[in-house]
Amino acid sequence: MIKIEHLVKNYGANCAVDDISFEVEEGEIVGFLGPNGAGKSTTMNILTGYLSSTSGKALIAGVDILADPIAAKRQIGYLPEQPPLYPDMTVEEYLNFNYDLKGCKLDRRAHLEQICETVKIKDVRHKVIRTLSKGYRQRVGIAQALVGNPKVIIFDEPTVGLDPKQIIEIRNLIRGLGKEHTVILSTHILQEVQAVCDRIVIINKGKIVANEKTENISNVVADNRRFHVKIAGPQKEILSMLRSMPGIAYADALAERDGDAYTYLVESDFGVDIRKKLFYQLSERGWPMIGLESLGMNLEDIFITVVDKSEEHKSGRIAQTERTKRRGSKEKASLERELGANLYENAQRRRMESSLEEGEDD
Ligand code: ADP
Repeated sequence: MIKIEHLVKNYGANCAVDDISFEVEEGEIVGFLGPNGAGKSTTMNILTGYLSSTSGKALIAGVDILADPIAAKRQIGYLPEQPPLYPDMTVEEYLNFNYDLKGCKLDRRAHLEQICETVKIKDVRHKVIRTLSKGYRQRVGIAQALVGNPKVIIFDEPTVGLDPKQIIEIRNLIRGLGKEHTVILSTHILQEVQAVCDRIVIINKGKIVANEKTENISNVVADNRRFHVKIAGPQKEILSMLRSMPGIAYADALAERDGDAYTYLVESDFGVDIRKKLFYQLSERGWPMIGLESLGMNLEDIFITVVDKSEEHKSGRIAQTERTKRRGSKEKASLERELGANLYENAQRRRMESSLEEGEDD
């Protein structure tokens, strides 16, 4: 439904979008994620026909936005970060205005009624926009994007500035829209992608650094690999047991102490759920496990990882440990593993850096 092919945008000597290609299938909700200055807005602006590209193509439902902007724009509903509202109009007037502006041919009454139903603004239809809450104004912004029933809806940072309740409502609304429309939304909020999107495209410094189904990312997020384990007993011996236990990739003792119990950071090998084995082994030795907290991976870790990865691999900064090398040769490449391995390397590097900074010898 959306096809971006070798898209390049230069601002003078600055290359804002550097030869990116990706596709969004019909009915998919794709999150376009990246740090500030990554090239998100530039890409969105090209997609919506607001900017021209230096080279490459952007196709909406098969129509080239540069070659036939009017036909392509008919297929797009766009909600910019600042919704283009006229605060002195009522919601009803504003939607009618948009209907006329777009030259919509659908039955006016039924179509606008349907939109108000979908975005749940029927109760404020006759209110002046300036009197509405930010959440409602955002809904009205979404309503204007739906006028003309476009196949593709593009949202730029759709929940910025909303309160937590409004954020959940707008995310649910977007999820619902994904049933009938193809949706692309740009965001810097990682949880948003996880909550709403089927696929995630991450851009950094004008280049795509990840393009994956959210569930693949979520598997890593939900991965039972990192724990804080609180164990009663002699710290040195417990740590040495943890470090020598097959299935554990990394173990360290934390400063936290609770009576005769210490907390340890434990990371298992890929695909290994170490919890039960750890419980039995500790119990055999008479060292009771009195707490186990899964740390998981948050999207921030993943985000930093994929962004770091492209840079570090370029500059060759990652020094692989023997264990990671062995693991790498044993296992097939997949995003999950790759991200996991990379997270592991990153975690190790960060730990090394922080212990160097703190002057600890490990
Ligand atoms: P994002 O939306 O991810 O924050 P942008 O697409 O706005 O990123 O910007 C990408 C890069 O292009 C940045 O380095 C930014 O400074 C630059 N840039 C954006 N707009 C312009 C412009 N109109 N003129 C010159 N440089 C620009």
